[in-house]
Amino acid sequence: MKSLRIMPFGDVPDYILTAISEELRASLNLITEIGEPRGLPKEFYNPIRGQYLAEKILDFIYQKFKGNILAVSSEDLYAEGLNFVFGQAELPGRVCIISLHRLNPKFYREPENKLLFIERAVKEAKHEVCHALFGLRHCNDSSCVMSFSNTIFDVDRKSKELCERCKRKILRK
Ligand SMILES: [Zn+2]
Ligand SMILES: [Zn+2]
Repeated sequence: MKSLRIMPFGDVPDYILTAISEELRASLNLITEIGEPRGLPKEFYNPIRGQYLAEKILDFIYQKFKGNILAVSSEDLYAEGLNFVFGQAELPGRVCIISLHRLNPKFYREPENKLLFIERAVKEAKHEVCHALFGLRHCNDSSCVMSFSNTIFDVDRKSKELCERCKRKILRK
C-alpha cells in the first residue's frame, strides 16, 4: 500500500482535507495523513497575475519534503501558457498539487455550497494523485475522473470515479 501526506497551503478548510483523505483511502487504498497548514513560498507569487506558478511550487515541495505529497492550496495557480490550472502533478512521481481557488462556488459568485465544493476538490485531488502515484494519463471517457478539466463545467461533468480501463491500470501497479 502506498502512503500519502496531504499538506494544506494557505487557508484550507478541514472538511475539504478530511473528505479528500477519506476518498483516497477508500478508492485508492492509500494510507493518508494530513499535515500542518503552511504558507506558499512568496517567491513563486506573480503579483501581476495574482497567482502562484504551480511548477515551481512542486519543485519546492519535492526538494523540501520526502514521500508522496498532495499539496492543497487555497491560492490560485497557473502554468506558463495557461490562464490557470486546477492542479498539476509529476507524471509519474511523488508530488502533486491542487488549488481550491476556482473550485469554490463563491469564486463564480454563486451561493455557498459546501457539498459541491467538497465534490470538486475530491475529484481534482484524485485526478492529480492518479497522475503522480499511478502514472495515469488523461482519459477520453468524459465521465472518468482522469478526463481533463479545462473549465469548472468539465469538473462538474465528470464523476469522482475511475472508468474500468483506468481502474485496471491501477490494479497492475
Ligand atoms: Zn490531468
Ligand atoms: Zn478513465
